[in-house]
Amino acid sequence: MKEPQSLETIVCPFCDSDRSRPYDSMDGFNIVKCKACGFVYTNPRPYIKDLGNYYSEEYYLDERHKKKYYNPDGSIINEENDSEAGITQIENYVNKRGKILEIGAARGGFLKELKKRGWETYGVEISESACKIAKEQNGIDLFCGSFKEYEPDFLFDAICMYQTLEHLPDPKFVLQKCFDKLKPGGLLIISVPNLRSFDLKLSKDRRRLSYDLPRHLNHFDDRFLNKHLSGLGFKVLEIDLYYPKFVFSLLNTLRKSANEKDIRSVTPVNNNTSGKYPELFKYNITAKGQLLKSVSEFFPGWKLTLIAKKP
Ligand SMILES: [Zn+2]
Repeated sequence: MKEPQSLETIVCPFCDSDRSRPYDSMDGFNIVKCKACGFVYTNPRPYIKDLGNYYSEEYYLDERHKKKYYNPDGSIINEENDSEAGITQIENYVNKRGKILEIGAARGGFLKELKKRGWETYGVEISESACKIAKEQNGIDLFCGSFKEYEPDFLFDAICMYQTLEHLPDPKFVLQKCFDKLKPGGLLIISVPNLRSFDLKLSKDRRRLSYDLPRHLNHFDDRFLNKHLSGLGFKVLEIDLYYPKFVFSLLNTLRKSANEKDIRSVTPVNNNTSGKYPELFKYNITAKGQLLKSVSEFFPGWKLTLIAKKP
């Protein structure tokens, strides 16, 4: 940030109510909760035209943002290693691969892995430098602009977004457009920081990371997203709440390492294609996974992933 920018006061992005109460504040920015629908949002917030000023070179060089993906405990892992868990979450609910769109595709790392597995990949990314890297280093062509501007003349089998929706100034529009751009039976996969996270209650540092003010304009939890998507007509199939840092640390202590395999046993399933691509990943929740899921309902981790289907 070069100099302070003026801010705009907005009405609730989901229900247009101007009635809200203070929710929290940090680093000179306020978060409010809508009295009508319960949505939590940054208010006042930067003008849309000024948003780019808050994504400086320094922001992208910050350790938290160099990589798009994180371990369940919030530590950073490399994109390629994480893609298997993400792909498994998607393929578990499909019978065949098709057209997939990633909103906020960054440098195209995840789409590159999906493409290798036989998905027809599409991506939208607002950062020109990220689009350039996606093409030059990952061989992925992205639509460089906002999702609002993107108007393909076909529908998708799946739309995914990871740590993106909280940054967008028009989340209600985006979710409706996702519904409209999916085929019947199409999947929506959304991962966002969880406002209901247990870690946020314990640590101001974790709150600072999760709020990421003023870049995070929207602050979701699993209950709000579940209710809103159901209202749009989606059938919510699964909400992964992960687990908080103390559970992660406990698991690490108990068995030296904790990972996805604690939760899911993944089995590749032959989907009778040409054999050109790997089999689809299908999973069962393990007994330990069931236990962790019941723990995570009371002690949710820092992020959540929701998977929903358009009927
Ligand atoms: Zn509202």
